[in-house]
Amino acid sequence: DVLLIGSRKPVLVGGLESKVNLHHYLEAKDKSAFIKEVGPKIGAIALAYTHDKVDGPFLSQFPNLKQVSSFGVGYDHVDAKWAGEHGIVVTNTPDVLNEEVADTALGLLLCTLREFPQADRYVRAGQWPKAPYPLTKATLQGRTVGVVGMGRIGKAIAKRLEAFNAKVVYHSRNPQAGVEYKYYPKLVDMARDVDTLMIIVPGGASTKNLINAEVLKALGPQGVVINMARGSVIDEPALIEALKNRTIYSAGLDVFVNEPEVPQELIDMEHVVLFPHVGSASEATRTAMDQLVVDNILAWAAGKPPLTPVPETPYPPKC
Ligand code: NDP
Repeated sequence: DVLLIGSRKPVLVGGLESKVNLHHYLEAKDKSAFIKEVGPKIGAIALAYTHDKVDGPFLSQFPNLKQVSSFGVGYDHVDAKWAGEHGIVVTNTPDVLNEEVADTALGLLLCTLREFPQADRYVRAGQWPKAPYPLTKATLQGRTVGVVGMGRIGKAIAKRLEAFNAKVVYHSRNPQAGVEYKYYPKLVDMARDVDTLMIIVPGGASTKNLINAEVLKALGPQGVVINMARGSVIDEPALIEALKNRTIYSAGLDVFVNEPEVPQELIDMEHVVLFPHVGSASEATRTAMDQLVVDNILAWAAGKPPLTPVPETPYPPKC
């Protein structure tokens, strides 16, 4: 028995319906009566989106739960530590989205530096016949990009940055094996040496407000911040302040603290670029992610090892 949390996405329903007993959480009118009835039967949960919070108290309602198959590579919405301590494997959908998210990251970076969304708005507003669009003060050429998080997606972004002639350096907690870009153990030191930060770390407690006022000050007045990670990684009020005061030059943001709500102060700023969390959002990539959610569930149903367990819940479990 599998509990689907989220809407009836065709790949999820099509892939699971004929193979397991599928229960639809969102469609239950009385959630507590529903959980009382089906809770003990549930062996796996499929999460259709990344925004459903799945914590210990919620999971403890399913005494026979063995697996949570979560959509998306980021799983900060799931308490994986709690799951691991209670014999539940959590899986995510890594790798199948690397290239798409890296493409979006470069798109957002170029949009932010060269003001392409603003230029598009200029044409639509009928401004072009009156005067050419002003030259952009920023360009990618000559920039040094500090990648914050040189993991699967960080590496795909770095490869693209090289092709665009940008110099690449990086920060993470540990140097990455086989990566030759300059490594900075301290983020603030890297921020001082670069003019662009590309953020692509996981969300959650260990990265909360990693990009704070000190880092933004170190980045300086030519500084551009691109956040492809999670809203929580940036101290949002500090960022807004730094943009208002021109402590940094600009920002391109795909993710926000309270998304889909975006602070009005950011919306009011003409010199920032705001995307509605579209990093992986093409039909092809989202289909591949949905399929991996299904495949992890089907592996569990067949008594096979999970395909992509997260590090907090390794398989086989460490005793
Ligand atoms: P990986 O796990 O492959 O890489 C994560 C990187 O971040 C590693 O280099 C890791 O190195 C580093 N890191 C982790 N914690 C910290 C920390 N506290 N401080 C500094 N560096 C840290 O993940 P992916 O590349 O697959 O994905 C990264 C994240 O991107 C996802 O978790 C998700 O939040 C976000 N994402 C956003 C998308 C969007 O639509 N905007 C789409 C897909 C992903 P180390 O462990 O050595 O620190």
